[in-house]
Amino acid sequence: MNDPRIRSIVIVGGGTAGWMTAAALAKVVGTENVSITLVESEEIGTVGVGEATIPPILLFNKMLGIDEDTFVRETNATFKLGIDFVDWRRPGHRYFHPFGLLGADLPDRVGFVHFWLRWVQEGGNPDFSRFSAETEAARVGRFARTPPTGGALPNINYAYQFDASLYAAFLRRFAEARGVERIEGRIVAVRRDAETGFIAAVTLQDGRSVAGEFFVDCSGFRSLLLGDSLEVPFEDWSRWLPCDRAVAVPCARTNDPTPFTTVTGREAGWQWRIPLQHRTGNGYVFASAFIGEEEATEKLLSRLDGAAQAEPRVLRFKAGRRRVCFEKNCLAVGLAAGFLEPLESTSIHLIQIAVNKLLDMFPNRDFHPAILSRFNDETNQVYDSIRDFLIAHYKLTERDQPFWRHCQDIEPPDSLATKLDLFRGRAQVFPSGFDTFHETNWFAILYGQGFEPESYHPLADNMSSDELRVTLAQIRAAIQKRVDGLPPHQAFLEAVASRP
Ligand code: FAD
Repeated sequence: MNDPRIRSIVIVGGGTAGWMTAAALAKVVGTENVSITLVESEEIGTVGVGEATIPPILLFNKMLGIDEDTFVRETNATFKLGIDFVDWRRPGHRYFHPFGLLGADLPDRVGFVHFWLRWVQEGGNPDFSRFSAETEAARVGRFARTPPTGGALPNINYAYQFDASLYAAFLRRFAEARGVERIEGRIVAVRRDAETGFIAAVTLQDGRSVAGEFFVDCSGFRSLLLGDSLEVPFEDWSRWLPCDRAVAVPCARTNDPTPFTTVTGREAGWQWRIPLQHRTGNGYVFASAFIGEEEATEKLLSRLDGAAQAEPRVLRFKAGRRRVCFEKNCLAVGLAAGFLEPLESTSIHLIQIAVNKLLDMFPNRDFHPAILSRFNDETNQVYDSIRDFLIAHYKLTERDQPFWRHCQDIEPPDSLATKLDLFRGRAQVFPSGFDTFHETNWFAILYGQGFEPESYHPLADNMSSDELRVTLAQIRAAIQKRVDGLPPHQAFLEAVASRP
């Protein structure tokens, strides 16, 4: 019997998706028995604006064996404890979406928020952020890594804010050192096998041909292989997520970088502020049906902390995903597979999910349909659940402007409508195993937006009022003690920078 194993992989594109894929394949699959080639075009360039992440990125770097301090230095990274939503529910209001748990694990498998909701009903302080160590640390600009077990004090959960181009360059060095071959060139044609329809090779402008058995399409919005060549249709979600443009510009730092990303509601969308060590990334994500590119650019430039450091760049996109991401011998990763606006910093995470799944379900040359079907089902569930989470941010606001009124009137997908109904009942949405965001994330956003549940889990009544009061006071004291013991974020960054 012929050896069924794949012997050659071609990655098309060298943005964050391309180099994350290349680095992981080089590390886990290796290049001794499989050739891994990456084709990219400097002339075309990359999107290069993905700067904020969520905590699972730590696991990706860990899988590669990357030392965190080195990574932070090389990518000008800062630490991120969550997202500060400013003027989102309504002008003048703010709430924090923290990483990590709220409170602490309490008895009877009942989530902390249920005990907390009961406590609020009994007259407790309705500010849930007091029970999040990450929110409290963000509030005072403090950060440090805490030991994985945390001991008696709560852990600090975090992700990074980094320069995406530097991250791609860092991973490129990592992958090339492990045998990945990089080819510079512009792909002008994709050749498919006449019998199977599989992709056989890509042709470069200078006439060279790069053949392979397995192709990973990381070509960005263009979706050169999956979209253009294999004609897998794009499912357009703009009826739920109407933002279709972003204008981005870095500016000079005027203060120490905050250990969080700021998202500010604006007239026709929202503005991000992502502090890095050497500069601050900014962007205005907007719906072109409600504001023009020129006006959005002017608004963004007038709302920067420091002097702009480059010409503003407008990016155009559509929310949605390809119907499937794995078709024949081609897997799309990153923007080639789909796009969801960066409101919850999920794009790099979606790359990570695809790469992990690829390693878990690594195909043979037969590209068994059952494997591909499973891959696609799981991936679609991940995209759909993030989509619902994002729509909830827009649906539940009190902002009174044409764009926001439009969002409030949007009919949610059934899957989201069900979650909102469940939450309204008693603060549970029951995420599936493929949901990126868990009960506490949903609680932070929905409650933060003013969507108050009618009740809480009945087992939260099992504790006496006195016991509940004492328990919450102990949790609160532990959070305070943890936060008081943290250094300023900037001091922590300086310590990382000075370590050999
Ligand atoms: P790209 O960066 O577009 O790379 C495509 C690659 O394909 C390039 O190397 C290009 O040269 C190559 N290519 C294309 N066509 C050809 C051709 N014909 N021949 C040869 N090579 C070709 N993500 C987050 O996680 N956090 C964020 O905060 C965040 N913010 C974002 C803000 C905006 C406005 C946008 C648009 C995206 C944001 N993202 C964010 C998403 C993030 O930028 C992308 O997910 C990430 O950069 C991956 O992009 P990519 O590698 O798929 O595509």
